[in-house]
Amino acid sequence: MKKIFIIANWKSNKTIKETEEWFHSFSDGFKRDPFSLENKEIIVSPSFTLLEHANYCSGNLKLPIKFAAQTISPFEEGAYTGEVNGKQIKELVDYVVVGHSERRQNFGEDQDMIDKKTQQTLKYELVPILCISNIQQTQSAKLKAQNYNSKLKSYKILVAYEPLFAIGSGHPDTPENADNFAQKIKKELGKIPVLYGGSVTGDNVNSLTQMNNIDGVLVGGASLDPRKFLEIVKNA
Ligand code: PEP
Repeated sequence: MKKIFIIANWKSNKTIKETEEWFHSFSDGFKRDPFSLENKEIIVSPSFTLLEHANYCSGNLKLPIKFAAQTISPFEEGAYTGEVNGKQIKELVDYVVVGHSERRQNFGEDQDMIDKKTQQTLKYELVPILCISNIQQTQSAKLKAQNYNSKLKSYKILVAYEPLFAIGSGHPDTPENADNFAQKIKKELGKIPVLYGGSVTGDNVNSLTQMNNIDGVLVGGASLDPRKFLEIVKNA
């Protein structure tokens, strides 16, 4: 049975109280109607301000949830006002989302910046979830992944294919297109897990995760509602 990654990207949403409510509702739903999570890795990616409490809630409720940061500083600790660096992030998460299209578009993150962030992520032995919308964006990841994989055998990179037209639009890519793209990524980067992101719901998730080359999903909008996210985890 292949391992399936299901990632909740909360983006810039939720307060501490809302985070607590999300975890309680997710836990209640799961305990009411439990299902096997044997081959599933659930990862939640909240804002930095929520991470510590989210960790606490998840631990308290004994949920098998891992965490991801939504970005990382391209620099080490030091005089970089407003940045959160790898050493700090390492205390709270296992994964880091790098190169999300919203950061490329709204914060001018170019390939050089994304490379630096990938490098910092790997340096602190965290797993990058590299978001790409076209095959050219895999190029530098290729070098980085090869460099680091040979040194640190157990560390890998996850790639999330997120076509721009599908993000937040309610119009996902077809499973066949997404699978073809995932296959291309694997040809470029080797046998790494490739996820699909863009308008994933409880109704369409299985048509995607059942494809040979798709190893999970990155979920934005639908992950904000714990019941919808639980449905996605269940059906994935
Ligand atoms: C995303 O932002 O990465 C995303 C996939 O969003 P949505 O699920 O809302 O399309």
